[in-house]
Amino acid sequence: MTPPTTTSALRITEDNLRALRAHGEQTYPNECCGVLLGRNVDGVNHVQEVLPAGNTRTDSAHNRYNIAPQELVRIQRQGRARGLDIVGFYHSHPDHPAMWSVTDIAEAHWIGCSYIITSVVKGAATETNSFLLTGSGEEDKAFARQALELAAPQVVADTLLACRP
Ligand SMILES: [Zn+2]
Repeated sequence: MTPPTTTSALRITEDNLRALRAHGEQTYPNECCGVLLGRNVDGVNHVQEVLPAGNTRTDSAHNRYNIAPQELVRIQRQGRARGLDIVGFYHSHPDHPAMWSVTDIAEAHWIGCSYIITSVVKGAATETNSFLLTGSGEEDKAFARQALELAAPQVVADTLLACRP
């Protein structure tokens, strides 16, 4: 058994946070979902871009979400072309708390990625939480609550510049 990883924060700009929360209000009473592109710098996921994705779970869109694999591959390619990786995902919980569900952990496969959940109550976004998927694989994966740190856009840009060779 590997010991639980210490959870680092997720860095996101206020604009990006507002955008993913607004997406949940737009799709209410259905779940919204999307991808977070950015960089992992010293174990901290820095979100650079929030990309809304379509929810393919039209059969049960009020309490399930799924991003089409082709759409995910396309987003990943576009990101890599600009030096950005997928650092996380987001979705909403219409009229449910901003806590991960049994389905959420079962369907989360990206170790090291952040999973943001926003509770949308009666059409208005309330709480937003982020959970880091920890572990070494499917057998021992687990969600660990992580702090959401608001970052100024220029601070993120400076960090990225500092990483260049
Ligand atoms: Zn969920």
